[in-house]
Amino acid sequence: MSVPSNMQAVRWHPPSYDIRVESIPIPEIQHPDDAIVKVKLAALCGSDLHVYRGHGGVDKVHTCGHEFIGEVVSLGSSYRTNTQGRPKLYSTLKVGDKVVSPFTVNCGECHVCRLGYTARCPEGALFGSPALEGGQAQYVRVPKAGGTLFNLSNPNTWSTALSEQEKEKALTGLADSSLLMLADILPTGVFAALQALNHPKVQPILTGRPWPLCFSPEISTEGNEISFTPEDRILTIAIIGLGPVGICAAVSLLDALATRKIPFRIVAIDLLEARREKMKAVYDAIDASGKGSGEFEVLSADDAKVLVDDWTGGVGCTAVLEVVGHPSALTSAYNLVRDFGAIVSVGVHGEPPLPYTGRQVYNKNVSFDFGRCPARAMFPLAFDLLVKRQDVFGGVGQAASLIDRIVSFKEATENYRAFDKGEVGKVIFSPWDC
Ligand SMILES: [Zn+2]
Ligand SMILES: [Zn+2]
Repeated sequence: MSVPSNMQAVRWHPPSYDIRVESIPIPEIQHPDDAIVKVKLAALCGSDLHVYRGHGGVDKVHTCGHEFIGEVVSLGSSYRTNTQGRPKLYSTLKVGDKVVSPFTVNCGECHVCRLGYTARCPEGALFGSPALEGGQAQYVRVPKAGGTLFNLSNPNTWSTALSEQEKEKALTGLADSSLLMLADILPTGVFAALQALNHPKVQPILTGRPWPLCFSPEISTEGNEISFTPEDRILTIAIIGLGPVGICAAVSLLDALATRKIPFRIVAIDLLEARREKMKAVYDAIDASGKGSGEFEVLSADDAKVLVDDWTGGVGCTAVLEVVGHPSALTSAYNLVRDFGAIVSVGVHGEPPLPYTGRQVYNKNVSFDFGRCPARAMFPLAFDLLVKRQDVFGGVGQAASLIDRIVSFKEATENYRAFDKGEVGKVIFSPWDC
């Protein structure tokens, strides 16, 4: 049997709206730290549309896609038994292992990666960009794979709050389409939720101690004549943008608040009725343990502003999650957030400047937290939530599913078009279905 030297890949051509499925050479090991992964499933993502529409500042033909799951078929010479001081995968990853990759490469061993800020590794690169061929292909080359990949065949290679048994059961029981959410949408949603909950501006409400004593638990608040009312302790949060990442952020936030028994009011916002309906279906599908006892409303932006004013007596949200990546969403976030509030933005933003003046920002004492999710660092937390919330992350094509359909490469061009027009939600490609 002859070994094939070519493969099928979904390629973007400049200047815009030009997706072709082409036969190109199978990637080869170029560096000792590389792995070649045979792709089982690859997803289409909202951020792929920036390049698709020609807004990405890109003019080079390249293979698309930054979300993929597959099997290791080839490893560079760095993978051997004695690799002391390097990420564990250099000594444990084997040909045949099932892996999922975060959407960016990260070395896992520099100062930036050691601190957990893997999205900004100096050696990082985004899959499906001119810098690095993407995963919407039958094979993909993963640079720095020992720091980048998440080995689903070896549960001893990452930390978890799950028991050994639960972890093993999850790895054999979870569908690949579900595990693929680890590549981007789930860690990014968890990241957005945790950025808000861990934000200093939220701590008075979480601790029940006023600013700045909320950071100094060793100092008594005795002598404070005025104590918090139960109303003061209610966390009010808005989520703007209910695409797959926004929904993952909502699910993650609900889970964290339910687990920590924090009183809350959440309003989830989108312009599109179909997205609001999806969010409602997901909320209905979550069992009681995952949504706590707070209020949860799904509305358009204008209705949400009225509701938040009503909830808070005109004060505004403690935190706003912006999951759109458009200046108009940042304006909505500013209008919804309270003085001394926080805006957490995980939407991918382009060239337009921020829609605020320095005075507006000063006058609100508002904090901003922007940027790309360090997906590799988020994997352990995202994996645990994925296992726990199979009621929403397990299905395909149902009312409460985040994934709408799984299609072959033959349908790639049409699905890019439909996804761009908002006619379909999250799409997964199955590269070996002909
Ligand atoms: Zn993505
Ligand atoms: Zn690094």
